[in-house]
Amino acid sequence: MEVLRTIDALRAQRADWTSRGETVALVPTMGAIHQGHMALVEHAKTLSDRVIATIFINPTQFAPGGDFDAYPRTEDADTKRLASAGADALFAPELSEIYPPGFATNISVSGVSDGLCGGHRPGHFDGVATVVSKLLLQATPDTALFGEKDYQQLQVIRRVVTDLDIPVRIIGVPTVREADGLAMSSRNAYLTDEERRIAPALYQTLTKIADDLKQGAAVEELLEKGTRSLTEAGFRSVDYLELRDANSLAILTKYTGPARLLAAAWLGKARLIDNIEV
Ligand code: AMP
Repeated sequence: MEVLRTIDALRAQRADWTSRGETVALVPTMGAIHQGHMALVEHAKTLSDRVIATIFINPTQFAPGGDFDAYPRTEDADTKRLASAGADALFAPELSEIYPPGFATNISVSGVSDGLCGGHRPGHFDGVATVVSKLLLQATPDTALFGEKDYQQLQVIRRVVTDLDIPVRIIGVPTVREADGLAMSSRNAYLTDEERRIAPALYQTLTKIADDLKQGAAVEELLEKGTRSLTEAGFRSVDYLELRDANSLAILTKYTGPARLLAAAWLGKARLIDNIEV
């Protein structure tokens, strides 16, 4: 697997594959590679001749005082994992390659960015939309893959690609979970042993609410009960627990059709997010 550090090297690699008639898929990540990321690469392999994974810890999507400095940086282990999953190239640029002096552009997506993580992390999705747009324009992949684990992010990216006419097919990949249901995440590394035992309650709560919704129970009551059960299980606080339209992310007060149940909650130093289809 080639490790590319510059946009020029990335474009040269892409041009070489294009000249051979090969298709390319892009899998953007922030590193600390786990089986969730590897599933994206493996899925990408089934769709394209070549797969480019990227590792870039994007400072503009972290809040001031957030966990940018603490975010795990494990490039050697990541490189091996991405290669074993079938990536053909890794694009891992320096900060200055992505944000050279004078950089001044911001892509802001309204609507799907509002509320949920967008409400609790101001500016987060601007950072995501801007850096993902840059990566898509740098690599010009045929396909780009993103996890449903970050469901709002996936909808923001679909929106920006549509609105800016970026010629790429966006594919969402189902969340990969630990055996006890906890969604795999680089931030799970922040959990103590005790918190790790509590963490699956997030997925269990979502599953229970989804079952009750399908039985016809009232949305508001279920969400209140679910929030209580998370704090009783040991979560420090719940940022949100909401039922939304699966595509527009509009708030739903009644369960009638395809919906998504999404939650974010704090467990010790970790902010865990998860979501499921209803
Ligand atoms: P991250 O490195 O956390 O920014 O994630 C990079 C990509 O991997 C994003 O598209 C995430 O949605 C996706 N991803 C992260 N965790 C998982 C998971 N457990 N299952 C599936 N995809 C995931």
